[in-house]
Amino acid sequence: MANPKKKHTPMRRDMRRAQNSRLELGSLTRCSNCGAARMPHRVCPACGHYGGELILPPKTKKDKKEGQS
Ligand SMILES: [Zn+2]
Repeated sequence: MANPKKKHTPMRRDMRRAQNSRLELGSLTRCSNCGAARMPHRVCPACGHYGGELILPPKTKKDKKEGQS
């Protein structure tokens, strides 16, 4: 039977387990309008631009309050 020859150190064990819990961020691109990091093929969350056009106006705190009431 195949058996491990040496016991792995706690660090080695923890590093192995940490690989399963890490977050995959995927690829990010820069917004052509404001330069913020955004996901490809998505409207920029910072300025609401996509393909050089304003798609979604950026949200402000004032807009949020008006929407709730
Ligand atoms: Zn932007």
